[in-house]
Amino acid sequence: MQIQKTEILVLSSKNSDENDVTCTALSPEFGKINLIFKGLLKSKRRSICIRDPGSVAEIIFYRKESKSFFYISDFVLISTPEKVRNNVELYYYHCFLLELISKITTENTKNSFIYNISKKVLAILETEKDSLMLVLFFVLHVLQHNGIMPDLSQCEVCGSSSASHYNLDFNGKSLICRECTPSYNRDNFSFSSNTVTFMNNSLKTKYSANDFSIISRLEAEKSLFYLVLFLEDYFHIIINSKDFIFKK
Ligand SMILES: [Zn+2]
Repeated sequence: MQIQKTEILVLSSKNSDENDVTCTALSPEFGKINLIFKGLLKSKRRSICIRDPGSVAEIIFYRKESKSFFYISDFVLISTPEKVRNNVELYYYHCFLLELISKITTENTKNSFIYNISKKVLAILETEKDSLMLVLFFVLHVLQHNGIMPDLSQCEVCGSSSASHYNLDFNGKSLICRECTPSYNRDNFSFSSNTVTFMNNSLKTKYSANDFSIISRLEAEKSLFYLVLFLEDYFHIIINSKDFIFKK
């Protein structure tokens, strides 16, 4: 039985047996994992906040042969979300991000990119005023990381980069201006040129370096909705908590 160490981002948890807590968490080295904290609920020394979804901790663990659970022998809590508990809108976005992260990651598959960006985005959410833009930024990076984001620099057919609206062709991984979009596809959701510029910048710079004023809130919401529907279809998942953020 080997004692190992890793960092985790807690995705969900529940009490089990009398004093134990089981969690699903993400680790940069092990992907999505299932953890057991034996006796956590009666412990006086250990912080119970580690079970809060969104908490980050460094854990020392071991695995029993033929069992997929990680048994925690000790941990250091690094951070735990606090502001999201006092703000309903932040809380909705927080739930949405955690559900999305959980459903696009697989067990025991290393994915340090998704781990790092998830940790960063959840930390920014604690201080962010416009959570909608942050979630849009995250979804764009998930699409790009999975190799399905079209090249956003110009219309693939005519080369124009000054059209007023564009369609995203995920199958051909291309951007097509409204003029070049076949008439039978013209009723599809189209993105304004400002939104395409915002998306292109988001994929090239860090979050805080973006100019959020170029895209309206309504347009950002519609774009996010469209991209989330695409993600659901691509990963064959349903994100139940999207109903919270698209309720209006
Ligand atoms: Zn074109």
